[in-house]
Amino acid sequence: MKVAENLKNIEEKINEACKNSGRHREDIKLIGVTKYVSIERAQEALEAGVTDLGENRDQGLLDKYEVLKDVPNWHYIGSMQTRKVKNVIDKISYIHSLDRVSLAEEIQKRSKQPINCLVQVNVSGEESKHGLDPEGTLDFIKELAGFDKVKVAGLMTMAPFTDDEQVLRGCFRKLKKLQVEIQKAELSHAPCKELSMGMSNDFMVAIEEGSTMIRIGTALVGEEL
Ligand SMILES: *Cc1c(COP(=O)(O)O)cnc(C)c1O
Repeated sequence: MKVAENLKNIEEKINEACKNSGRHREDIKLIGVTKYVSIERAQEALEAGVTDLGENRDQGLLDKYEVLKDVPNWHYIGSMQTRKVKNVIDKISYIHSLDRVSLAEEIQKRSKQPINCLVQVNVSGEESKHGLDPEGTLDFIKELAGFDKVKVAGLMTMAPFTDDEQVLRGCFRKLKKLQVEIQKAELSHAPCKELSMGMSNDFMVAIEEGSTMIRIGTALVGEEL
């Protein structure tokens, strides 16, 4: 399938989810996750009108960054190794996987300007998932107050891989609730406006529960590699 056709289907679903929940399309950013596909396929996504691309490995990001000169926004969506920060930090608009103080320290050391960071939360409690416990998230964010290069733009989570809508909804609702708690703390370094949640199989539910950034790979570009 052409990316443009996939995008059209996705946009229809986004609009439907917005309608279901009284939200506006412009409040949701679509991130095309290109980690599975070639540079050419990523280029096709850009030509179809996707403005934000996400990668989960520094090499994957750098390879595409070199060739695709005018990607408006790059997102780093995977768990970030500390020693990889310096390779990508000046190329990305958002890091979706801040999950430890040592990573914040490295961002602080390597970045020339404040970076939009999303704190990754393991809402589902699955062992295989990265991220902080919901209970410890506010304290963690408070610890980041001294890092002027780390802006806590929001929270990110990955739901379990399931079709059980109730499970998905419960997971996204918990992240939304946590966001409200953090916003109530009124921390100047943590406006926490963004909720990065929703992937190919669950983005409609995520939008209905307040997502502002959906990260879509398979449904948009497929998995050709
Ligand atoms: C791969 C990946 C995605 C995209 O997954 P799809 O199910 O292919 O849409 C989204 N978020 C993260 C963190 C990923 O690693």
